[in-house]
Amino acid sequence: MLVFAFATAVILAGYYVLSPLFRESEGSLEAELWTETDLDRLLDRKTIIYGNLRDLEFEYKMGRLSEADFAGLGAGYKTEAAAILQQLDRLGAEGNLDETTGREVSGRKLPAAARCPSCGAEVIAGKKFCADCGHGLQRS
Ligand SMILES: [Zn+2]
Repeated sequence: MLVFAFATAVILAGYYVLSPLFRESEGSLEAELWTETDLDRLLDRKTIIYGNLRDLEFEYKMGRLSEADFAGLGAGYKTEAAAILQQLDRLGAEGNLDETTGREVSGRKLPAAARCPSCGAEVIAGKKFCADCGHGLQRS
């Protein structure tokens, strides 16, 4: 009986501590889902194309591909990779816009391509200070 009461207290305490986190994420859930699936899709395609490029290079080095084929296919993959990187950049820029509007999205990690608001250098997600200029990144 005592054990049961203790377990209930622990569960209630845990719920009380965690529930604000669940509530806060609800508001931007739809937007985040969209961004994440879009981002995931791009990252998946990027991985596939880089894999294809590696395979292509391998095939060429093994002599199973003519130089013309290698150049033609490689150019196609590189064009697609560039387009994907551009879209990834755009998604990163949109993430930064959200931050400059001051919309509170606590608990959300910085976008992969976050930039320092002071000097514009790329900053590593989760860092508190810019590695280039030492500007505080206002995340805790
Ligand atoms: Zn900076």
